[in-house]
Amino acid sequence: MSERPEKTVLLRGGDVHSPADPFATAMVVERGHVAWVGSEGAADSFADGVDEVVDLRGALVTPAFTDAHVHTTATGLALTGLDLTGVDTLAGALERVRAHAAARPADRVLLGHGWDASAWPERRPPSRRELDEAAGGRPLYLTRADVHSAVVTTALLDLVPHARTLSGYAPDAPLTGAAHHAVRAAAYDSVTPAQRTEAQRAALARAASLGIGSVHECAGPEISGADDLTGLLRLAAEEPGLRVTGYWAEVITSPAGAARVRELGATGAAGDLFVDGSLGSHTACLHEPYADAPDGTGSAHLDADAIAAHVTACTEAGIQAGFHAIGDAALSAVVEGVRAAADRLGLARVRAARHRVEHAEMLGPELIAAFAELALTASVQPAFDAAWGGEEAMYAQRLGRERARTLNPYAAMLRAGVPLALGSDSPVTPSTRGAPSGPPPSTAPPSTGSRCAPPSRPTPAAAGGPSAGTTRACWCRALRPTTRCGRPATWWCRCPTTGSPTGPPTPAPAPRTARPHPRRPAARLPAHGRGRAHGPRAPERVTRQDPRTAERRAPACRTAPSSAVLTC
Ligand SMILES: [Zn+2]
Ligand SMILES: [Zn+2]
Repeated sequence: MSERPEKTVLLRGGDVHSPADPFATAMVVERGHVAWVGSEGAADSFADGVDEVVDLRGALVTPAFTDAHVHTTATGLALTGLDLTGVDTLAGALERVRAHAAARPADRVLLGHGWDASAWPERRPPSRRELDEAAGGRPLYLTRADVHSAVVTTALLDLVPHARTLSGYAPDAPLTGAAHHAVRAAAYDSVTPAQRTEAQRAALARAASLGIGSVHECAGPEISGADDLTGLLRLAAEEPGLRVTGYWAEVITSPAGAARVRELGATGAAGDLFVDGSLGSHTACLHEPYADAPDGTGSAHLDADAIAAHVTACTEAGIQAGFHAIGDAALSAVVEGVRAAADRLGLARVRAARHRVEHAEMLGPELIAAFAELALTASVQPAFDAAWGGEEAMYAQRLGRERARTLNPYAAMLRAGVPLALGSDSPVTPSTRGAPSGPPPSTAPPSTGSRCAPPSRPTPAAAGGPSAGTTRACWCRALRPTTRCGRPATWWCRCPTTGSPTGPPTPAPAPRTARPHPRRPAARLPAHGRGRAHGPRAPERVTRQDPRTAERRAPACRTAPSSAVLTC
C-alpha cells in the first residue's frame, strides 16, 4: 500500500466486502480514506488518474473489524506471560508453569491464563500442591479460560490472607467469587505501570495485525482498575493504531456516579458489570440447577431492583448501561430491571439509550422478544459456542445436552431484531479477525451445506487498516439476518478462500430497487472522478455487468458482519 498518505491508490481485481456495493471488486483510497468502491468497469475510469494501481489478485478486502468485548491488559499479559490456551493435559500445563517460572526469575508474581480442565484427560485442574511444586514455591495466579475462576499457589494466598475467609474460597479447588477477586487484585497490583503499558501495547498490536480496527474495552473496579482504563485510553489516543472504546463496570445510582464514569473517559457504565458468573465455573445464574452440580444454580450479584436503578441513572445521564449476564435467571433479572426502568422513564427513552448485555447466552423466546422490545444490544461471543458447545463439550456437561442446545440462539435473535455485536472476550477466547470455520454447534441445524474454509491467503490493507488475512465465520444456516424493516441485510457471505458464495441454496434475494436505501451509505467518489464514474448501481445493471452475479444470486447466503448492528 501507499507509504505516502496523500497518494491516491486504486485497488482492483479483488472482492471488496462493503454494504455500499455487495458486488464491488475495486476501491479507491484517497489521502488515507476509502473514497469509492465499485466494479471493474468503473475502475477503468480511475486507472489513469491515480498515483498507484494495486492488483488484488482476487483477494478479499473487508472493513477493519471491531472486537466488541476485550480485556486488553489481560490479553497482553497472556501474550507476554504464561499462556495455557490449547494445552491439552494437566501434566502439560504443569510443565509450562515450570518453564515459565524458570524463565521469569524476577517477577514478583507469576501470571498466567487459559487452562481448561474440561478438555483434559485428567478432568481436574492442578492441585495447590502440584502448583506450589511447579512454581518453585513462588506466588502464581493462573486464570481458567473463562477468567471467572483461578488456581493459585500457597505463596500467593499468603499475600492475601483474608482471601481464605471470603466466599468462593476452597482449600484445594479453583477460587471463585469474592476470594478470586481479592487474589486477582493482589496479583494485578504486582504488575508495574511499565509492564501494564507493555502488555496493552502488545495486545493492541496483536489485534491490529489481525485486521481489527477498534475494540471495546470492558474495564471495571473488580476487573482491571481505573488506572488501567485511563492508561489504555491515553495510549490509544497518543499512538497510532486501534480505536479503543472504554466501558466501566460500576453500578451507578446518581448523576455523580455518571460523572465519574465520564471522567474516566468511558462510554458507558457497562461491560462486565456482573449479574452472574460463567457456566464453566458453575457461577452463571440459572433457573434450574446445573446438570453436573445438582445442588447449585450459580451466583447472583445484582437483582432486578439494582439493575433498574442502574439503568435509570444511566438513561437519565445519557450514557449506556450494560451488564454481564449469561444464565437464564440472570438474563431474566436484566429484562425485569430494564423493563422497570422503562416503566419509570418511558420505553422510548430507554430504547434510545441502546443499553447492552454482554454474553446473553441462555435466552428463550420470551427473553429474545424482551431484548427486541427494550432495544438491548446483545454483545455475544460466537467463539464461546465453538469452544464449549456441541453434544459433549463443557456446555453439555454443565447443563445437559437438551439445555445446552438452546444456548446462543443468534439466528432467532437476529430474526427478532436484536442487534448483535460480536466479540471475543479476549483473553477468554482469542481475539481473531474472524471466528471458527464451522457453525456454532448449539445453533446450527445438521450440516448439509458447505462451510467457509479457513483463510489461506493474505489480504491487502482494508479501509486504511493493516495488512492481514481475513476470515469470516460463515454460519450461513444459523444467521439469516434481516433488517428491522424486514429487508434482507446487505452483507453477503463469501468464502474467504475461493471468493465464492457459500452455504446451502436459498431463494435469491428480492431484487433491489434502483433507489438507494435511505440509510445505506452511498459509495463516494474521489473528487477527480466525480461525474465520470458510477455511484450506487441498480441491481439490473449489476446483473448485466457482473458475470459472477448469477452465480452469487443462486446459492447465496447472508451473514452478519463482525461487529454487526444490522439496520435498515
Ligand atoms: Zn463477561
Ligand atoms: Zn469480559
